[in-house]
Amino acid sequence: MPEGDSLRRAAAALDRSLGGFTLVRVELRWPTVAGVDLVGRTVLHTRPYGKHLLTRFDDGRTLHTHLRMDGRWRVVATGTPGAAARSTKVRAVLANQVSTAIGIDLGMLDLVPTAREHTLLAHLGPDILDDGFDRPGPGGDAPPGPGLTEALGRWGHRTGTPVCEVLLDQGVVAGIGTIYLAESLFAERVHPWTPADQVDAARLLRTARLLMQRAVLAGRPPGRVHGRRGHPCPRCGTPIARGTARPQPYARPVFWCPACQPAVSRPA
Ligand SMILES: [Zn+2]
Repeated sequence: MPEGDSLRRAAAALDRSLGGFTLVRVELRWPTVAGVDLVGRTVLHTRPYGKHLLTRFDDGRTLHTHLRMDGRWRVVATGTPGAAARSTKVRAVLANQVSTAIGIDLGMLDLVPTAREHTLLAHLGPDILDDGFDRPGPGGDAPPGPGLTEALGRWGHRTGTPVCEVLLDQGVVAGIGTIYLAESLFAERVHPWTPADQVDAARLLRTARLLMQRAVLAGRPPGRVHGRRGHPCPRCGTPIARGTARPQPYARPVFWCPACQPAVSRPA
């Protein structure tokens, strides 16, 4: 499932190809917005928020999309065979005279007044990759920025919940999925089922943010433990374990090193 870093890259790709250009062809293959006409509108920009994308137009409307499990945006040159976008998996086509952006397997699609975007995002915690999430400069003991402060407040209501479940909860902080759940807990040597009130939440969230910021620049996630069950731990060589966070139907995989991230039993 795409996480905050890949949403950042998707938004940047859409900005490069659509931002400032007038649409000459628009197809929204989704029941609630079928027939909506956006031809002639200019795309202002696309903003990511957690795992959501907000594409804003010059008429005061916003196209809200979510990639869910397998969604992605692909940009091709207008007029090429690929721009026909004939696949039944295509949910959206936004084209100007130069570029055609094709939304494939999107899991959500709404058109709302830009002024009401916040109602779509009201259930979400602060975006971990937002500039205002934390203060720039060396982290460590610096006072948390506004987004981190809000996230810590939300985290504080989840005492006793396993830390792996709190990190996945988009209502606490938006943008983290199973990759940065696994990689940030590994970096901080935290057992995934440690109760949330027994970990240094600020330090953990700062680590997750840093790993995601690096991945935005590198174009790929760190891949030290996520998806590597049975492979040797890059630190100690112990085989990486795989477990499950949350009950069905919301279960998500969790990867960790049993040696570097041992379960900590609370003193009696
Ligand atoms: Zn290890």
